[in-house]
Amino acid sequence: MLQSQLFCKTKKETPREAISISHKYLVRADFIEQTISGVYRFLPLGFRVLKRVEGIIREEMQNLGAQELYLPALQDKSLWLETNRWETIDPPLFKLKDRHQKETALGSTHEEEITDIIRQRINSYQDLPVCLYQIQNKFRNEMRATGGLLRMREFLMKDLYSFHGNGKDLINFYQKVKKTYFKIFKRCNLKTLCVEASSGTIGGELSHEFMVLSDKGEDKILICNKCLWAANVEKTGEIKKCPKCKGVLERRNAIEVGHIFNLGTKYSEKMSANFRDKEGKTKPIIMGCYGIGLPRLVATIAEVHHDEKGIIWPKDVSPFNIHLIKIENSLKINKLTEKIYQDLQRAGVDELRLSSLFANARVVDELRLSSPFANARVIEVLYDDRKEKSAGEKFADADLIGIPIRIVISERTLKRDSVEIKERNKKETKLVKIARLSHFIRNW
Ligand SMILES: [Zn+2]
Repeated sequence: MLQSQLFCKTKKETPREAISISHKYLVRADFIEQTISGVYRFLPLGFRVLKRVEGIIREEMQNLGAQELYLPALQDKSLWLETNRWETIDPPLFKLKDRHQKETALGSTHEEEITDIIRQRINSYQDLPVCLYQIQNKFRNEMRATGGLLRMREFLMKDLYSFHGNGKDLINFYQKVKKTYFKIFKRCNLKTLCVEASSGTIGGELSHEFMVLSDKGEDKILICNKCLWAANVEKTGEIKKCPKCKGVLERRNAIEVGHIFNLGTKYSEKMSANFRDKEGKTKPIIMGCYGIGLPRLVATIAEVHHDEKGIIWPKDVSPFNIHLIKIENSLKINKLTEKIYQDLQRAGVDELRLSSLFANARVVDELRLSSPFANARVIEVLYDDRKEKSAGEKFADADLIGIPIRIVISERTLKRDSVEIKERNKKETKLVKIARLSHFIRNW
């Protein structure tokens, strides 16, 4: 993509309301923009990151064997009355009346909807287990929505629901989801801790949160310095000693990036979602639900990966793979940079495009293997071709936007038939011969 065509206006000023690093940089780099409290527009660069995170999550959900569906945000009041959550859920629902005075709500979660779908379709133990997920907007009527994308009132969320005939089957699946979650966060270059958590008004018997340690986190967790047992303070209260090994507990702030629940029969009993077991006995279906808020995940990545100049995106979630920058405007430089720009893009398979065409990760893998670039990396290039910007302005924008590799072409590098390469997370630069460039990039 040519940067002269990119819809992005970086800013020098920090937004006044920004209290977190991620908020400050995401606004300054023109990834996002707040409209009203807790509601954000995603501009093209921000939307690219969101889509890449979504791609990782979708791939891992497919690997787990979950099927994707889509449920509406606008939900019928009657379903919420069945579970008695119309008035009690916290934070409260955004409620609406249509022109016929019929009451609806914008969904903050979808247990009622999904249980309604299941009870109409599951009859026997032979129909179980089932796991379904969606990536869809949620609405939460938060008292306080600050911290940019860390706490929002409308946000994209992946919610997965599983349905089982017995508790053991649910526990097995719950453990599998835990592994999948660790993998998703690792692909986003985040170190997470899985902690025992309070289930709130989603409810159920047991829940775990995935936490990223950060001073900006709103959650307080306790970690045992001996056995590494960890829990949210909401769950345990202010205890001093580890309940597992009596070790000393350390108190830390953390950002919750995922939450998984063993719901047991909380919803199936209230909504009569039953099945017949092997002996023909009618029993309530056992449920689990598993959520990841996508914008918060994006913000957490920026919260962890940045320096004093801007964001440092991990490779797998960066809006582009390479930032190509030309410094002078001679005919020779223009021609050569254009050629390098074309060559770099051809050197890779465009994973983003493949993933969006084929929801199934296996299809993407097969295509990749059958392509002439079987071993090539995915390469999307942002080419700073802007004529009116100085070298200093281009570098400042590049650091702020945070693409992991920067390639610079100037008269100085050309004298040595080279380009200058700098990784965003390193201080030093290196010269690489132009003839070796594609090779260098593929092996990076
Ligand atoms: Zn311990």
